[in-house]
Amino acid sequence: MSTCNKDHRSDPYFTQLPVDQGDFGRHKCAGCAYEAGYQRGINRCMSIDMETDFQNLSESQADAVRHKSPYVAYAQGYANGLFDSY
Ligand SMILES: [Zn+2]
Repeated sequence: MSTCNKDHRSDPYFTQLPVDQGDFGRHKCAGCAYEAGYQRGINRCMSIDMETDFQNLSESQADAVRHKSPYVAYAQGYANGLFDSY
């Protein structure tokens, strides 16, 4: 599994996300999850398979995204993508 090296790891936007210490998606990068969700939203994708999308996400334990819920990040990204699609 690749490790995320993108700048969004230190984006303060992600500090608002709830902490997720669970095993399910724990180490996935919340920034990458946000971007994956955003792509689904901006393309108005009506069928979302979060589990499949998450299999391709990079991992991260860095900075602002550390232990932040990638699921909330994905959902927010999807919502923001939908907004931006109008
Ligand atoms: Zn990332």
